[in-house]
Amino acid sequence: MPSGVHESCHLTQFTDLGLAEPLLRSIKDEGYTDPTPIQAAVIPKVLEGRDLMGIAQTGTGKTAAFVLPVLSRIKELEITPKRAGCTALILAPTRELAAQIADSIRIYGRYMKPAVAVVVGGVKHNPQIRQMAPGVDVLVATPGRLLDHMGTGTIRLDGTSVIVLDEGDQMLDLGFMPAIRQVMNALPKKRQTMLFSATMPDQIRSLARDFLVNPAEVAVAAVSKPIDRIQQRVIHLPHSEKKAMLSKLMADPDIDRTIVFTRTKRGADRVSEGLVKAGFGAAAIHGNKSQNQRERALRDFKEGRTTILVATDIAARGIDIDDVSHVFNFELPNIPEAYVHRIGRTARAGRSGVAISFCDGTERQYLKDIEKLTNLTIEAEGTPQPFEKPPAPGANRNRGGSRPQVKANNQSKPTGGRRQDESGKPRRPRRRKRPAPAQ
Ligand code: AMP
Repeated sequence: MPSGVHESCHLTQFTDLGLAEPLLRSIKDEGYTDPTPIQAAVIPKVLEGRDLMGIAQTGTGKTAAFVLPVLSRIKELEITPKRAGCTALILAPTRELAAQIADSIRIYGRYMKPAVAVVVGGVKHNPQIRQMAPGVDVLVATPGRLLDHMGTGTIRLDGTSVIVLDEGDQMLDLGFMPAIRQVMNALPKKRQTMLFSATMPDQIRSLARDFLVNPAEVAVAAVSKPIDRIQQRVIHLPHSEKKAMLSKLMADPDIDRTIVFTRTKRGADRVSEGLVKAGFGAAAIHGNKSQNQRERALRDFKEGRTTILVATDIAARGIDIDDVSHVFNFELPNIPEAYVHRIGRTARAGRSGVAISFCDGTERQYLKDIEKLTNLTIEAEGTPQPFEKPPAPGANRNRGGSRPQVKANNQSKPTGGRRQDESGKPRRPRRRKRPAPAQ
């Protein structure tokens, strides 16, 4: 937790919040002394049964902020799920985040033993159907696969009384908005709805307007503002020099655990291969990897067997890895909000962090967009490259590279909506309208 923020809420204690006793016990087991600001603000509201709009990034303790009161209500109200149904539904953008939320539910619910199911793409349907058949207390799902099950009648939502939409802006960026709206329309009218998002683009605002009733609003960090403790730098250089520069910087002994971001899956593979060739322990994680490969890469990274994780935005979303000392943007993201998410992987839990971005000629506009969004001028080195148009959709950035295009995409995908770069077809998204700055 950022220490300054944490201190501001030292008067609230977990025992003041009204949580069921078994949850207080597991919180104690976890060693949490005080609720984080978002927990102190959100938990009482959710326990009252209110709808909630939460503006918060990962790393603020927001998972516990919704998991704890949801479990508490299930326990106190003694709600039992319907067959093939769930009492509470949590929607998350990626498989990794869904698995992580389910882990948190099991940890916090240690003394309650709630029935939990995870329904995500990229794995078989049948085990999920079997798991869901008797009904579960909490279902954590990605929107695409959930819709598949709803379509075949293997999951029903008519008995669901709580819905949490986590990382709303990321689900929007992944094109999940039509799927989310379909899910919301299938839920009973009488229910509790929570929406969490790190930023508030227009479509998230309108989702809140359409589906939340008189929501309590909680914001814990300035919207879209990178954490002040992160030292940010940008290095201007031609694309062809990025690999060598990355290897050079990686030799810095201050670098401990690092995430290197690329815009595309193929880019992640190439950068990871280059680092391994240069003698570094690196692994790539993205949507073309099997679930097992992703889990192994994450485990190796978390347990320190590899010190460099090369990731696309989608794969890295919401992953809670502590002690990341440096974030590298091998390629700048074309969606400026993604920059904020990426660099937020470092400087967790009160530590400081370093974010170094590479910027070639095609990325100058992306850098401008980021500086506009964050209202910062990022300290720059090197010679700014002449402005170039970003690569055309599907263009191969790997000058001289000839690896075949990988077709499979295990990322659970919505049926409609805009594609991300990571789907293999880079496409500059429509710019979101931003309100004009106050005069
Ligand atoms: P989240 O924002 O949900 O990704 O949580 C970030 C990290 O904070 C996780 O590793 C949690 O285990 C940890 N955490 C959550 N609540 C607390 C708390 N009250 N005190 C200390 N750490 C916490």
